[in-house]
Amino acid sequence: MNLILLGPPGAGKGTQAKILEQAHGFKQLSTGDMLRAAISAGSETGVKAKAIMDRGDLVSDDVILGIVAERMDKPDVSQGVVFDGFPRTPAQAESLDKMLKARGGKLDGVIEMKVDDEALVKRITGRFTCAKCGKGYHDDFAKPKKVGICDVCGSTEFTRRPDDNEKTVRDRLQVYNKQTAPLVEYYRGQGNLHVIDGMADIGQVTAAIETVLAQLKA
Ligand code: ADP
Ligand code: ADP
Ligand code: ZN
Repeated sequence: MNLILLGPPGAGKGTQAKILEQAHGFKQLSTGDMLRAAISAGSETGVKAKAIMDRGDLVSDDVILGIVAERMDKPDVSQGVVFDGFPRTPAQAESLDKMLKARGGKLDGVIEMKVDDEALVKRITGRFTCAKCGKGYHDDFAKPKKVGICDVCGSTEFTRRPDDNEKTVRDRLQVYNKQTAPLVEYYRGQGNLHVIDGMADIGQVTAAIETVLAQLKA
């Protein structure tokens, strides 16, 4: 099954994509994570993307579509993909439809996660991630069970993203509303849109997604 988690920065896409990966064997495809890996590796793509990401703008469709197409050609995506942070523009959405079709697949559903802007700012400014395994946490809403130790891998190193500050988040929200929000109507028109309340607790959001998955399978 191929799913898109659609929602503004901080909506909980990464959190839920990782849960879906564990529960169903889908692969999370996060273009943000792929770009951050390119930055860490010091590749040409990474160097170009960094300045754009730091100010909260979108990386060009060409670059994004290139890295997604390459990822979709790996064999491990055959069980299905959870797209997280992609597509973000109408051009990306149309290219994804073509990309899936060319590989003999299709999009099964788009889950829009709705969250209030002020809650998003709180979520983003409190976000941190295990430096070793990538598990996501929050200062108030999703703390490790033992302070300073990753629940999953035991690491004591965590990272915070340079773009996860209040100023950039507000810019990213504007970019979302202008460039990405139109995808809601695009997918509604396709009959693929499922809207859920992203304001609920992490477990309740997971349950709402599972209800959509059950509908899609039926
Ligand atoms: P996105 O990938 O959409 O940007 P994340 O999954 O990284 O969002 O979540 C942003 C932050 O909010 C993280 O720190 C995460 O732990 C926390 N978070 C995720 N879902 C919820 C939720 N339902 N309620 C409260 N906090 C949440
Ligand atoms: P968030 O978790 O806050 O939604 P992401 O990790 O998805 O953020 O994205 C971080 C940054 O990476 C974005 O602000 C943007 O600069 C860039 N980016 C990620 N995915 C895309 C995409 N599909 N198209 C354009 N830019 C992207
Ligand atoms: Zn860890």
